[in-house]
Amino acid sequence: MREEERRVKGVGMGRVVKWNRKARVVYVQCRTGKGNLQAWRHQIGKTDDPECRKCGRYAETGKHVAFVCTNGEDIGRRWSTWEDMDDRARWARKEKDEKGFYTVDLVETFFSKIDLR
Ligand SMILES: [Zn+2]
Repeated sequence: MREEERRVKGVGMGRVVKWNRKARVVYVQCRTGKGNLQAWRHQIGKTDDPECRKCGRYAETGKHVAFVCTNGEDIGRRWSTWEDMDDRARWARKEKDEKGFYTVDLVETFFSKIDLR
């Protein structure tokens, strides 16, 4: 059961492990709903206040941070489900510099801009 709980389904971890550390850490916390999220901290008795530190309007769950919070709109959110985030057509953006084309992972960029500390 514990093992099952820790497993993150449908993520494509091969993609996520290449992200910068901050994006990885925030993504995994949001996707699992555990870690330094107020709703989780409230559930385990570490804080009295489960509300989001950005908008203060809803419980700070992983789904809230990833898909609902107004802060997400400000930093370029364009997904409404985890499946959307896993869909290459929705996360990959081709860019070009002097060396040629490369792919930007928009989900990595998004989670890099979220601070859960
Ligand atoms: Zn919020």
